[in-house]
Amino acid sequence: MNTLSVMNPANGEILRVLPATTPDRVAFRAQAARAAQPGWAALALTQRMGCIARFREGVVRDQELLARVMTQETGKPIRMSRNELGSLLGRIDFFLAQVEATTATETVFDADGMIEQISHPPLGVVVNISAWNYPWFVGCNVVVPALLTGNAVLYKPSEYSTLTGLELTRLLHEAGVPQDVMACVVGGSGTGAALLAQPVDGVFFTGSHATGKHIAQQLAGRMLRLQLELGGKDPSYVCDDADLQAAVASLSDGAMYNTGQSCCAVERIYVHARIHDAFVDRFVECVGSFRRGDPLAEDTYIGAITRPQQLATLEAQVADARTKGAKLLLGGGRGAGPGNWFEPTVLSEVNHTMELMREESFGPVIGIQRVASDDEAVRLMNDTRYGLTAGVYTCDAERARRILAQVKAGSVYWNCCDRVSPRLPWGGVDDSGVGLTLSTYGIATFTRPRAWHLRAPEPITRS
Ligand code: NAD
Repeated sequence: MNTLSVMNPANGEILRVLPATTPDRVAFRAQAARAAQPGWAALALTQRMGCIARFREGVVRDQELLARVMTQETGKPIRMSRNELGSLLGRIDFFLAQVEATTATETVFDADGMIEQISHPPLGVVVNISAWNYPWFVGCNVVVPALLTGNAVLYKPSEYSTLTGLELTRLLHEAGVPQDVMACVVGGSGTGAALLAQPVDGVFFTGSHATGKHIAQQLAGRMLRLQLELGGKDPSYVCDDADLQAAVASLSDGAMYNTGQSCCAVERIYVHARIHDAFVDRFVECVGSFRRGDPLAEDTYIGAITRPQQLATLEAQVADARTKGAKLLLGGGRGAGPGNWFEPTVLSEVNHTMELMREESFGPVIGIQRVASDDEAVRLMNDTRYGLTAGVYTCDAERARRILAQVKAGSVYWNCCDRVSPRLPWGGVDDSGVGLTLSTYGIATFTRPRAWHLRAPEPITRS
C-alpha cells in the first residue's frame, strides 16, 4: 500500500504513517463531490453559514490540540501555532459577515420593461492544493469561502501538514458539512496530479512558483478557473528618516517569524547609507536575541525547518553570497540534529549578483544592502521576477506613498511588514501568482457571475 510518513522536523521522529489516497479513490471522491454539490448549493445560505459558524466553534474548542498537532508536524513554535489559529477566527468572521452581500443577486438595470440582474452561482467542484507553512490560513482562505458559496471541495493538504489538514476536515464534517461535499485526500505530488486529472471547475493552488508553473502547464487548454498563490522575494526599504528602533523590531520579526518560512516574510532589506551601519548593528543584536529550540517550548521563537530539502538551499545561498563578497554577521549554517535546523543568519554587503537577493530563501536568512537614494531603493526592489509584498519605513507619509506607488507588488506596507488582512485582497504579480484570495474578491472568485436579461411580456391587448 502507498503510504505517507508524517515526520516531526524538530527531532526526525515519525509521528504517523497514513495510507495515501490512491488515484482510483481520488476519482471516486471527485465523482461523489460532483453528485453532492447541487444539493449543497441548494441549501439556504444560512444553513451553510451555520456549518461554518460551528466549524469556528470547533477551532476554538480544540485550539490547543490543533496548535500542538501543527507544531509537531511543521516545527512551528507553539506560540505561533496558537497565533495562527487565533487569527483564523477573524478570517472566518469576515467571510461569514460578507458572504451574503457579496453573493446577493443584484439588479443593475430596471426600465422600459427590461430588467438586468447578476446572480452568483458557485463554480461547482473545486480543488484546493495547499502549502504547509500556514496550513490553517491557506487552507481556510479557499475552503471556507468555497463552501459558503455552495461549492464542493477536494482538498489536498501539503504532505508536510497532512495531520492538520485532516483535523481541518474533521471539524468541518463535525460541523455538518457532508463528507462528499468536503473531501480531504492524502499524499504528495502524485496525489496532487491525480486531483488535477479530475473534471473539476476550479483549481486553487498555494505553493512554490515551480509547482504553480507546472500545474498551469498541466491545465493548459482546460476551461476552468485557476488561481495560483506563489512565493516571493519581498523587499523592505528603510529610509534615512525612519524610526530606527521601530524598523529594527518590525523587520527582524518580519524576516524571522515562523523561522522565515512565510510567503510574505521580509526576504531583502535595503537601508539608506546614512543609517545603514546603525541599523545593521541593532538588527543583528535583535535577531541574535531570538531563542531557537524545541518548538513546543513556550519561549521558542525560531523553530525547525519544515522541509529537509530547504537546508541545502539555505546553505547554498549563504555560500554563494560569501563567495561574492557578503559579510556574515550572524549564524550561517545548519544547527545540530536530529531534525532540520538552521541558524538565524544575517549578511550585509550583499548585492543582486547573489542568489540570496534574487531567489526565495524561505528560511531564517536575510541580506541587508546599503542604498544611496530612494530611486536606487525602488530600482532594486523592482529588480525581481516576484511581486508579492513590499514595504517602506519612513516618518514621511508622502515619501512612503511616492515610493510604494512605484513598487511592483500585490500588497504594500508603510512602517509594517509580513501582514495579511482578511479585509484586503491577497495576491501577487508576475511570478508570485494569479488571482486573489481574502477580501470580498476572495469570496466572489468562487462564483461564476451570471447575466440575466429579463423582458416581461407586453400585456396582451384584445380588440
Ligand atoms: P510546493 O510547491 O512544494 O507544494 C505545494 C503543494 O503542491 C503541496 O500540497 C504539494 O504536494 C503539491 N504538489 C507538488 N507537486 C505537485 C504536482 N506535480 N501536481 C499537483 N500538486 C503538486 O510548496 P510548499 O513547499 O508546500 O510551500 C512553500 C511555497 O508556498 C513557498 O514558495 C511559499 O512562498 C508559497 N506560499 C505562498 C503563499 C501565498 O499566499 N502566496 C502562501 C503560503 C505559501
